[in-house]
Amino acid sequence: MPTVLDQTDAADRIRQVLTRATARLHRVSDTPELDAGLLLAHVLDKPRSFLFAHGGNAVAPAKRAAFEALVERRRAGEPVAYLVGTWGFWSLDLAVDARVLVPRPDTETLVETALSLLPTDQPATVADLGTGSGAIALAIARERPNCRVLATDASRDALAVATHNAERLALDNIDFAEGDWFAALGDTRFDMIVSNPPYVAEDDPHLTALTHEPRAALVADDNGCSCLRRLAEGAAAYLVPGGWLVLEHGPDQGFFARHVLGRCGFRDVRTDQDLGDRPRVTLG
Ligand code: GLN
Repeated sequence: MPTVLDQTDAADRIRQVLTRATARLHRVSDTPELDAGLLLAHVLDKPRSFLFAHGGNAVAPAKRAAFEALVERRRAGEPVAYLVGTWGFWSLDLAVDARVLVPRPDTETLVETALSLLPTDQPATVADLGTGSGAIALAIARERPNCRVLATDASRDALAVATHNAERLALDNIDFAEGDWFAALGDTRFDMIVSNPPYVAEDDPHLTALTHEPRAALVADDNGCSCLRRLAEGAAAYLVPGGWLVLEHGPDQGFFARHVLGRCGFRDVRTDQDLGDRPRVTLG
């Protein structure tokens, strides 16, 4: 008696569907195989490991059509994170869409740096300026239940995503406020201010690959330096004495960031490296 598998055209099996999609994604993605796997797992509503364990299973025509549509959108440059609707950051599964930047692994360096400075056994207050999806603020809130985190953004759309993520994660030691940089802080002083501001220069060629993400979250004037400078210049008025400012920046902005923090009176200024050993986070 033939099994279902025997009746399936080989071309419609998971393994072949993935191989063909991977080939089509080579031009647009550095991780075509991963992208194809994430998209197919999403369409089939299974973990990605299922695809490898069941590579001989047939993909039903409706599922294949849905998958092909997502592969086409990926080919047109949409990030996988937007297509599947969630993205892993730190230990968190975050809802993301085109209203916010996709959380980057490099930003986990900022979370690590912040956590290394925050007490584990005493309360502390942290402000995350320009929170986007809430990635940094939520990771800190999750790791430090004794801390109170205020996450701000000038974009009401971004705050809607971040608030939704806080609800999904059932975190209640986090608050949200709308406003541009320090404008959202009122007259409170914090033990720590963290930010991953826009820092890409307007003419950075790397932007052509990021056209689906909010430009306001990526690009800053003055060769990408304007927001970093503004944060460094304004932060002291919102920090307790001895408080920390922790900023993410581009790998070529470490010298600038140390210089501007030093000029603004910060002490113990240093730069931490990201996962690729590039200067990424400056603190003082
Ligand atoms: N690290 C991001 C990128 O280069 C930029 C993030 C930002 O501007 N804050 O894609």
